[in-house]
Amino acid sequence: MQLCQDRGWPLRCFSAADLQTIPVPNPSPVVAQVVGTPSVAEAAAIAAAATPNTPASLRVSKQVIRHPDYAGAVTLAIAAAEQEYTGRQGHLWLVGTGPGSLDQITPAAKAAISRADAVVGYRLYMDLIQPLLRPGQLIEAMPITQEQQRAERAIELSRWGLSVAVISSGDCGIYAMAGLVLETLQAQGWDGHSPMVESIPGISALQSAAARVGAPLMHDFCAISLSDLLTPWPVIETRLRAAAEADFVVALYNPKSQQRTEQIAIAQRIFAQHRPPRTPVALVRAAYRADEQITITTVQAMLDHPIDMLTTVLIGNRSTQLYAGKLITPRGYRV
Ligand code: SAH
Repeated sequence: MQLCQDRGWPLRCFSAADLQTIPVPNPSPVVAQVVGTPSVAEAAAIAAAATPNTPASLRVSKQVIRHPDYAGAVTLAIAAAEQEYTGRQGHLWLVGTGPGSLDQITPAAKAAISRADAVVGYRLYMDLIQPLLRPGQLIEAMPITQEQQRAERAIELSRWGLSVAVISSGDCGIYAMAGLVLETLQAQGWDGHSPMVESIPGISALQSAAARVGAPLMHDFCAISLSDLLTPWPVIETRLRAAAEADFVVALYNPKSQQRTEQIAIAQRIFAQHRPPRTPVALVRAAYRADEQITITTVQAMLDHPIDMLTTVLIGNRSTQLYAGKLITPRGYRV
C-alpha cells in the first residue's frame, strides 16, 4: 500500500472467493491449498483490467520474481484493459437547457455545461448553448435520430473518468435523454455509483409555452406525446381519450412532423367530442427563441393553423377562459 501511495499507483484488492472463479492459464493446486484460490496474480490482473462489457486479455502470464537478499518472492502478471486507467470518478450530468434562450437556463445547468469535460447532445441544442462552451471541451453533436448512440457514447466517456454533460432541450427527464441513459446503464449492470449520475432540471416546453399564453396549467394537467416512434399509436389514443374525458388540461408534445400528420387530426377529433368547440387552445412554436410564434385558437379551429415539431399544443379544460389574449384556467372549482 505504501509503495502505491508513494508512486501514485491505483491499488485494488480482491478476495480469494472472487479470484477463484476466474479462469487462468496457470492455476496452482499448491496456491489453492494455501490461500483458497488457484491463482492470485493472473486472476487479479484479469479482474482488475476487465470492464462490465469487455473481458481483459492476459499479456504476461505468471512470473515469480525473487531477490537474493530477501526471503520469499513476488508473483506478477499483466493484463491489458480496454480502457486507460485515469483514477478519476466519472460523472454524468443529465442537463435540461430549457426552451432555447440562454436566460431560460438555470445557473446549475449553465455551471454543469461549463464544467464538463465533454458535452454530448443533439446538434440543434448544441448551437443554442454554444456561448456556454469553452475551449478544450470535447463536443459531440449528433443528429437527432442517434439518441441511443448518444447515450452509449456519453456513458463510455464517463467510464473513462470524464465529467460528461448530456444535453436535452427543456427538461432532460421529459421525453428526453435521462431515461435512455439510465436504461442503458441498467442494461450494463451499473452499480449506482460509478459513474455518478446527477440530473439537472430545466424548464420543460409545457412550462415555457404556458408562461407565454397566461395561466393554462393552473389546475390538473397532463402531457401526451403524439410521436408513435417509441409508443404504439393505440396506447397514445387511449391516453388522449382518457385525458379528454377526465377534463385534464393537456400539453401535446411532438404534435406533428412532415411524415406524421394524421395524429394531430385524430387528437383534435377526440377533444372536440369532450369539450365545447370554443375551448381555448394555444399553439406555441419555438417558445423563447428568435422565431417564436404564438397562435391562440379553439378546439374547433386548431387545425386551421400551422403546427409542427417545434410546437407545443396546450388544450384548455372545460373551465379554461380566454381573457385579454390570455388562457386562464381557474385555480379551483366552486360547487
Ligand atoms: N425535453 C423536452 C421535450 C423534447 S420532445 C422538454 O422538456 O421540453 C420535443 C417536443 O418538445 C417538440 O416536438 C415540441 O412539442 C416541444 N418543444 C421543445 N422545445 C419547444 C419550444 N421552445 N417551444 C415549443 N415547444 C417546444
